[in-house]
Amino acid sequence: MPHHTPAPSPTPGKVHLVGAGPGAADLLTLRAARLIGAADVIVYDKLVGPDILALARKDAEFIYAGKQAGNHTLPQPDINRLLVTLALAGKNVVRLKGGDPFVFARGGEEIAELAGAGIAFEVVPGITAATGAAAFAGIPLTHREHAQALVFVTGHVKDGTCSLDWPALVRPGQTVVIYMGLGALPSISRHLVEAGMAPDMPAACVQDATLPSQVTITGGIAELPDKVIAAGITSPALLIIGSVVSLRDALQWFEGAAPH
Ligand code: SAH
Repeated sequence: MPHHTPAPSPTPGKVHLVGAGPGAADLLTLRAARLIGAADVIVYDKLVGPDILALARKDAEFIYAGKQAGNHTLPQPDINRLLVTLALAGKNVVRLKGGDPFVFARGGEEIAELAGAGIAFEVVPGITAATGAAAFAGIPLTHREHAQALVFVTGHVKDGTCSLDWPALVRPGQTVVIYMGLGALPSISRHLVEAGMAPDMPAACVQDATLPSQVTITGGIAELPDKVIAAGITSPALLIIGSVVSLRDALQWFEGAAPH
């Protein structure tokens, strides 16, 4: 009988959990750009644009893990396992997520699986949608005369209801940023006013922040849902609520400006 030695398993690769920023490719960090350019495999989400993927090696493998019309997202446990499998096959993996990987992005769950499997990983922060949208809409998130606190919440609807801590969100002197809140905006607006927010509290909805297609709609919180629907705003869009939004009239600089 000939003696077979099993093929040695490759040295496991490393997984880099990388924030792709809010949209514009040149808002990536230098580290993100370097890692994207070196990766064997890039596992990316819906909000990562083609300009960013174009920084990858020509022979890199691309795996799409986001939603497609009519299809569901690759279930999170499958993504977690995929990252482990790729690393065990010796691949240098970049897991690329819109914005920052630790802000409403399930990055923690993905690296928990890697940590459990003994796979080496790194996390690279990105500019999150809140800071990207604020900068490009001319809305400072904090301001000595307006807001001393900043709250980030998700407006993602679970089982048809958007359950947030409404009394906490209507406290004075703060700015509230709502991710994934476009679908639930009518309900969010109603709940905030019922909890005591002034109906004319300045609020903004920013679509496609930092991209040439950026559109910002502003209005009192009570009227914002109708204005957003009338304007045909689509996802991704971020809500910013608080008196800092009134500063936009004087500070806006991006929309309608010459291309960069
Ligand atoms: N990890 C991401 C957030 C993912 S949740 C981050 O840190 O930015 C997805 C939500 O982010 C969207 O529903 C939207 O509310 C917001 N978002 C992401 N990119 C955006 C953009 N370019 N413009 C407006 N909102 C954006």
